[in-house]
Formats: sequence, structure tokens, C-alpha cells
Amino acid sequence: MNDKVDILSMSMDELIEFMEKIGEKKFRAKQIYEWLHEKRVSSFTEMTNISKALQDKLAVNCDIVTLREVKKLESKDGTRKYLFELNDHHVVESVFMSYKHGNSVCISSQVGCRMGCKFCASTIGGLKRNLTVSEMLGQVYEINRISGQRISNIVIMGTGEPLDNYDVLIKFIKIINSEEGMNISQRNITVSTCGIIEKINEIADENLKITLAISLHAPNNSIRKTMMPIANAYDYDLLIEACKDYVKKTKRRITFEYSLVKGVNDGIECAKELSKVLKGILCHVNLIPVNQVEERSYRHSSKDTILAFKNVLEKHKIPTTIRRELGSDIDAACGQLRRSYTKDNNKEV
Ligand code: SAH
Repeated sequence: MNDKVDILSMSMDELIEFMEKIGEKKFRAKQIYEWLHEKRVSSFTEMTNISKALQDKLAVNCDIVTLREVKKLESKDGTRKYLFELNDHHVVESVFMSYKHGNSVCISSQVGCRMGCKFCASTIGGLKRNLTVSEMLGQVYEINRISGQRISNIVIMGTGEPLDNYDVLIKFIKIINSEEGMNISQRNITVSTCGIIEKINEIADENLKITLAISLHAPNNSIRKTMMPIANAYDYDLLIEACKDYVKKTKRRITFEYSLVKGVNDGIECAKELSKVLKGILCHVNLIPVNQVEERSYRHSSKDTILAFKNVLEKHKIPTTIRRELGSDIDAACGQLRRSYTKDNNKEV
């Protein structure tokens, strides 16, 4: 890493401040911001409405962080998985998915993860470091550039726990949503969390219109504890209370993710218990057939079990969908590509 300023990570306000600090006019900030986030150039020389002198000054002092594509896998269903190398040679994965309602990009928020969920490949090597704002933006910008396709939805559901990298996450959302940037509607941004209660409370106060998705995966604390170590730190009932408060404050429907694992959390009794827990909450349940990870013993439930689970929830008037298994032929789920790449290349994960 060098000590140049990471200009792509700056909010408009920070850029204005920076311009003043280096003796430039404030209005230059808006021009530069648009070059970086709307036109998305990769060098200062392409910023044709600013002087050569300022271009040079910026080039000396600042870096425009870019990610390097090291691997791309394409699924039969059109899902594309990218592995990007960062400047310090860590790799992160991101996924492009095409839906009827538009194209979605799923991005990572950290290199690795320290949450330790038992079914997840992303956490096996632990947390290496947080991503920067520019590295989160870079995943979207690069996929947009490579694919040439419009991106209308962002899901922060790749490797990492976004609420464990909170300030970067909020800045990322503001920049990707900004009019002078990609202008992606907040309503089309989903943040998925394993349930860090104080951060759920904090994000409820940010006045954002995003969708919050909670990785619940269990109808009670004792089952949740066997799957997710975070359940030892944050009590189940308190998590549900925090979700209720979130809905009350934001008036936004919350999503509960529930990965079904054979014999662990997929029985009719679990479905009934979950229905009771979620009764009266403005929510939606997304059932995910667990993606089998080589290093993990968890197996996915049968189709019939999944449908029976869904029926119970729907009988209790809880809107429920089963996640389409996009890209399962290309290890698209949850850190598996990064893991296989680092293993194949004998790199530390
Ligand atoms: N840390 C965040 C976001 C990353 S994980 C979170 O916990 O929500 C994105 C989603 O995929 C989470 O719901 C996570 O629990 C789920 N997930 C991880 N590994 C999985 C697997 N092998 N099969 C099914 N879902 C998985």
C-alpha cells in the first residue's frame, strides 16, 4: 500500500474539503466526483474539464483504486461470479445475477469474516481485513464496466459482515445512491446481517430506505447457537425486539433469511415456532436451501421438506419465498470461489 489519498472513498463533502485543502476551488469537487462515480474513469488525465496542472497535482497525491479481475465463472443461468484482486493481493468475490426485474450485483464487505457461522465457507479462514469504500464501489463499477450491463440492484450479501464494517458500509450506500454517482435507488439496496443488535439500532436511525435482511436461520436461541456463534453474544429474543423496533422506526419491511439444513432447523415444529416468533412483524421470509460446503457437514433439506416448511409459514400469513439457486453450478454461494482459488494457489485464506 502507498500513502496516496484514496480519492474514490471520499464523499462529496470530503472531496470539497480536500479541494480547499490543496488550494483549489470548491466546485472542482463536483466535477471530479462525477468523473469518478458517474463516468468512472480510471485516470486523472481523462478528466478533460479540469486543467492539466490539477490533473497532475491529483495524480501525485491521489490514487484511483481499481480492482483486477483474476477469475470469472459463468453459469448456465447467466449468473457470473467474479474474483477480484485488491492492491494488497487479497481476493474478494462478487456475483452478477440477472432477474426479470433487473440486474443485481452481490458484493463483499470484508476480506473473510469473523462471525464463524457453521455452514458458511467465507468464514473458514477468519477475517483478514475490512474493505474500503473504494473496494466496495470497485466491485460494482468493475462488473458494470466488464459486462456493459445496467445494474439496478445491489445486495451486500457476499463475504463479510457489513455491520462489522459499519462506517464504510454507510458511506458506500450514500455514494452509490448519489445523483452524481450511479444513482442506485436505496430501495434497491439490501444489507444482510447476522444480527449485531447495536448496529441494527444504529442503522435504523440513519433514515435510509434500504432493505435490511437478517440471517435468522433458526426459530429459537438454542438451535441458532448450534449454527451461529453470534447467537452466544446476542440473545434471540432481543434480536427479534431490535427487528421490531427497526420496522417501527423505518416503516420498511424486514427480510428474514432462513437457510434450511437437513435435520437441524427444517422440521414442521421449527416452522410452527418460527411462525409464532414472526407473527405481526412486517416481514418476509426467504428460505434458502443450504449450499453444501466441502468442509462442512451440513446437508440441504429435500424439496418436499422445504415446501412443507413454506406451507406452514404461509398458513400463518407470513409471506415466504424460496430463493432460486442461481449459479449453483459455479460455486456461486457464499465464499466458495474465493476459498477454492486460495486453496488452489496455496495462498493463506
Ligand atoms: N454476514 C452477512 C452477509 C453475508 S452471508 C450475514 O450473515 O447475513 C449472506 C447470507 O448467506 C446469509 O444469510 C448467510 O447466513 C447465508 N449463507 C452463508 N453460507 C451459506 C450456505 N452454505 N448455504 C446457505 N446460505 C448460506
